Amino acid sequence: MGKSVYDHRWRKVSEAIRHATPYCEDCMDEGTVTTAEDMRLDVDHIIPIEVDPSKKYDADNLRVRCIRHHSIKTCSENNHWNNRELRKPKQWWMSDEWDSDASSE
Ligand SMILES: [Zn+2]
Repeated sequence: MGKSVYDHRWRKVSEAIRHATPYCEDCMDEGTVTTAEDMRLDVDHIIPIEVDPSKKYDADNLRVRCIRHHSIKTCSENNHWNNRELRKPKQWWMSDEWDSDASSE
């Protein structure tokens, strides 16, 4: 058995979060309502557990996302955390400024 991040406590926390927020928060920002009936919803860590394990159960660090937004975010996140730049955690992955960094030469 590998290390399981999704233990019993996590399941209870994520259930509670999804009960309180039964829709994708990213879709909501885009003006769309996506519930579990439309797509699978995941509870995602804004700051990844690998970066700060103490925030694993921190409600402020949790965000409900549909699997579409989850995969978009995970993709950008890998680039983001590899760069080790901790910018504003909220929706940095949707910002255009990420593309403009290299254009100064
Ligand atoms: Zn979504």
